[in-house]
Amino acid sequence: MDGIPEDARAVLEIDLDALCANWSMLAGMAGPNVVCSGVVKADGYGLGLEPVARALMQQGCKVFFVASLSEGRRLRGLSDSITVYILDGLLPGAAHHYVSLGLRPVLSSLPEIVEWAAFNRESQSRFPAAIQVDTGMNRLGIPVTDHQALREAAALAKNFEPCLIMSHLACADTPEDPMNARQLAGFKDSLSLLPDAPLSLANSGGIFLGADYHFDLVRPGIALYGGRAFTGGVNPVRPVVRLCARILQVRDTAAGETVGYGASHVLTRPARIATIGCGYADGFLRAIGPSGSALGPMGFIGDYPVPVIGRVSMDLITVDVTNVPDGLAVRGGWVEVMGGRVTVDDLTDRAGTIGYELLTRLSNRIHRIYRRKVASN
Ligand SMILES: *Cc1c(COP(=O)(O)O)cnc(C)c1O
Repeated sequence: MDGIPEDARAVLEIDLDALCANWSMLAGMAGPNVVCSGVVKADGYGLGLEPVARALMQQGCKVFFVASLSEGRRLRGLSDSITVYILDGLLPGAAHHYVSLGLRPVLSSLPEIVEWAAFNRESQSRFPAAIQVDTGMNRLGIPVTDHQALREAAALAKNFEPCLIMSHLACADTPEDPMNARQLAGFKDSLSLLPDAPLSLANSGGIFLGADYHFDLVRPGIALYGGRAFTGGVNPVRPVVRLCARILQVRDTAAGETVGYGASHVLTRPARIATIGCGYADGFLRAIGPSGSALGPMGFIGDYPVPVIGRVSMDLITVDVTNVPDGLAVRGGWVEVMGGRVTVDDLTDRAGTIGYELLTRLSNRIHRIYRRKVASN
């Protein structure tokens, strides 16, 4: 593989052109009158906040969402001209941090709104902040059923600049779920009690629910990174990540031998096994692996499929390379364990979890390479 240092044992290639193409596709679906932001929390879904955000900026993205103040600080270090929302909201006593960095809290409870309003009065300024209402998640946001709180929020908002009214969908990944329409209706109902400001409801899945859900700003995360935004259809976005691990050794084994911890995989025929430098400590979740003697997910050496056999260890995975032509499965060679053929979602479906979790767990031990064909400055 190109440009890979000799000491790299596992390599994550991040295709920034695909990331940008995905953003542009989603922005195109939202249409010219809707702002397409980028959700880059959790270190850009594990792929690297700075390179991801820089690429999205070059593609035209001007509004970003992160979870924490510290992530916001990192983003602000990249550019003075982007708009940054902090989904955690306002931490007690921390208002001056948001203001000095020009970050916008997503105010999600009345106490936060009271504190932001007081800070603005004392500063004799009107700093921007988003207000989040809860349409059914029961996580963050003022419940849309609490009309008294919504009215109080609206009154307090005269002290600052309410620059976005938003809510978050619980079931956007399941288009047929009636919860989507209920949340949409609850969101719309709450608006008559709230200040006039741009509106936002849709995450990645919400964008695919159609124009009714787009309002003034959409907030895609997972779909930017090639993950599946909704179930029951072909994933329309381009894969962004490819994970390859180095072959550390190759051995020939006899029928009746076992492979790995628990001696759980029993070979029924003579086999050639490659042991590769990636394991659950790298984020390749143990639950992705096979149970018993079943085959695990397919890896690839070139175009040759090589199934994972035996349990995933902390640092190692074993793959069956019996069917690979001589000379290809060799010490120092590479096995692709995640990419366009076996996707992040294919892997996490096996593990009973979601692509989001696997991406955000890929460890820093993995060497990262950012691919960008489009000229960047
Ligand atoms: C994480 C998050 C998003 C992005 O969600 P995806 O499903 O990854 O597109 C959007 N809005 C809020 C409030 C979030 O927390």
